[in-house]
Amino acid sequence: MRRRNLSVVLGAVSAHDPLARPLSRADVAGRVGLTRAAVSSLVDELIGRGALTEAETAPDGRVGRPGRALSVRDRGPAGLGLEIGVTHLGACVVDLRGEPRVWRRVDRANAGRPAGQVLAETAALAAEAEAEARDLGLRVEGRVLAVPGVVPNGPAGRVERAPNLGWHTVGIADHWPDPCTVPEPENEANLGALAEYWNAEQAEQTFVHVSADAGIGAALVIDGRLFRGARGFAGELGHVPVHPDGVRCACGARGCLEQYAGQAAVLREAGLAQHGPGAAGPAEAGDPVALLADRAAAGHAPTLAALDRAGRALGLALASAVDLIDPDGLVLGGTYAELAEWLLPPVRAELGERVTVRPWAPEALRPSALGRRGPVLGAAQTTVRRIMADPTLLPVG
Ligand SMILES: [Zn+2]
Repeated sequence: MRRRNLSVVLGAVSAHDPLARPLSRADVAGRVGLTRAAVSSLVDELIGRGALTEAETAPDGRVGRPGRALSVRDRGPAGLGLEIGVTHLGACVVDLRGEPRVWRRVDRANAGRPAGQVLAETAALAAEAEAEARDLGLRVEGRVLAVPGVVPNGPAGRVERAPNLGWHTVGIADHWPDPCTVPEPENEANLGALAEYWNAEQAEQTFVHVSADAGIGAALVIDGRLFRGARGFAGELGHVPVHPDGVRCACGARGCLEQYAGQAAVLREAGLAQHGPGAAGPAEAGDPVALLADRAAAGHAPTLAALDRAGRALGLALASAVDLIDPDGLVLGGTYAELAEWLLPPVRAELGERVTVRPWAPEALRPSALGRRGPVLGAAQTTVRRIMADPTLLPVG
């Protein structure tokens, strides 16, 4: 009960706009429906655990005496998010307010490299990010790693398969140099969807978040909760068939969405295959998504046709998802968000033609504001969300 009340009080302070008028203990008591004495004791504990701070405020004009203002600390407890992408590594530290304070992103060709090597480099990046966070007065309380692969349900700390990295059954702890800082792996599409849910201006309660990096990832948030499936494999939209007799996919099946709306397929169709990850020549380095956006903005016909075809395929797959789960909305995240200008019209057209048994508004499909930053931000915020739900996870100072 006390644990729950600590969370309720921390949540009330967190929900208060710090730029509005100062928030006193009495205000919190009024908002959460507990006595002033009870709230005061809970506030004292939250200050002791380093979650809240209470500052003197200037004399209040009406009362004529100084007050005390509560706020969530911008120092102390923090969450570290890490990300292994096919072409990059990322790190992010957020404070207890959920604000990102440290960002790191480095280009790395990770596909096909030994998992141990990639994880050792990720650990080095993590150590740099933690050192920078320490300089800001932050202390990392939890670490989550976003990976473009399947992470089975349960506490195994294992990536079952990450086809675009070439990983099969990789235990993170087996390769992490420091046993005290081993991160917990999670599928990057799941973390992208959670970041959207936690940060969007008006987040839908039930939505499908579909994103693309090298592969296509989708995640389902249902009634405000991530739906992982019976084994943790939910959201494999990239391998939903959109052409029953279409081209062969790396997964062994035919006509999968990834073969039409995945990055490699779009680059190939646009005549830009040499710019994709794994392309033969190092001369063609650079960001393939930025290149697609540049070419599309310049009216390059093959690029526009490739994006139109990708959008149509995406719309076809998403129409099934809409009919199956009846979501409030659909969100285009990851690199799709940067191509939204060209993807939204064909996806909306396809949905408009196919979703006919329920009401469907074109605006229910929207781009994510977080784009590529979603997964690593979601990874960092996971720890903060856990602390907000149970502040006793924090040690008493
Ligand atoms: Zn497939």
